[in-house]
Amino acid sequence: MGADNLQVRMRRRPVGMVDADDFDLVRAPMPVPGPGQVLVRNTWLSLDPYQRTRMDAERTYVDPMQVGDLMPGGTVGVVVESRADDVPVGATVAGWLGWQAFGVADRAALRVIDPQAAPPSTALGVLGMTGVTAHYGVVEIGRAKAGETVLVTAASGAVGSVAGQVAKILGCRAVGVAGGERKCRYVVEELGFDACVDYKAPGFEAALAAATPGGVDVLFENVGGPVMDAAIGRLNDFARIAFCGNVSQYNETEPYGLRRVRDLLMRRVTLQAFVIADRRDHWPKALAELGAWYRDGRLRGREDAVDGLENAPAGFVRMLTGGNLGKQLVRLH
Ligand code: NDP
Repeated sequence: MGADNLQVRMRRRPVGMVDADDFDLVRAPMPVPGPGQVLVRNTWLSLDPYQRTRMDAERTYVDPMQVGDLMPGGTVGVVVESRADDVPVGATVAGWLGWQAFGVADRAALRVIDPQAAPPSTALGVLGMTGVTAHYGVVEIGRAKAGETVLVTAASGAVGSVAGQVAKILGCRAVGVAGGERKCRYVVEELGFDACVDYKAPGFEAALAAATPGGVDVLFENVGGPVMDAAIGRLNDFARIAFCGNVSQYNETEPYGLRRVRDLLMRRVTLQAFVIADRRDHWPKALAELGAWYRDGRLRGREDAVDGLENAPAGFVRMLTGGNLGKQLVRLH
């Protein structure tokens, strides 16, 4: 068997901020598909904050990775060998093949993509897991209604950018929080949010209050920490928090505890954490709506790609430290 696959594996558990040295780039045997499986040459790899949480020893909603494991991740690629009746060689598929050049998957674990309908990379972003997450959080958890104010943290990122656009499509006022002036300009000028507040600028809390004069009805929370505390301070009575992520804390050795818990009580807030992996049933509806909005131009989103599997670790660190503008990807081959 030839040593002709390339993989990124976890070399050691990170302590605090993840580092490119926490990964190994290794050659591995080319995987061989069994009955009902296909061999895929990956063309795009998705870098996502949850991958950092899997590297810790504590259990998340799945068991933690072990040292030496292949890094998990969403992928898009082209079928190069098929032992599944309805997926021909040459088909474009989205799946979960991880940080590697080639992978084998069961047919049932793959989504066949029409590369003419939208660029295949969108199957990892606006028309993939992060888009579905945003849709679910705004529509099902936030129950956002026309006329309400929806506040979205990490607003320029993969999930946040879609969450705010979905809120706008539903007739809400969408306000973002993002790090830096360039990201805030993108959120308002390209994505169409009504306002965006830079949490890194002095006077953040006052600017947030000015951007949400009628308070906040739905908080789509992606970052946690002090930004979430500031956002809680703006909630209206009976507000809903779609607690999607806590990215500001994923690399912390001393996590920040929420300080504004009192406000949750006084405002009678509903806080619902969710993990989109639990809600496979929501994907078809979300993808149908997101796809229609994408095709009619109401939904958009930038992608920010690094080139080559060997640069995936650096791209990962870059995304977790806010270097990405839009969905962080790795372009392969
Ligand atoms: P993004 O594209 O938003 O990239 C991560 C962003 O996090 C960075 O660009 C940075 O933006 C922001 N960030 C990093 N550190 C901090 C900090 N200390 N304070 C504030 N912001 C910070 O990633 P995704 O859109 O893929 O993910 C966003 C969130 O959604 C994550 O928490 C992720 O875990 C969660 N998620 C949850 C899912 C679920 O099923 N519940 C599914 C998918 C994602 P900036 O420059 O603005 O600081």
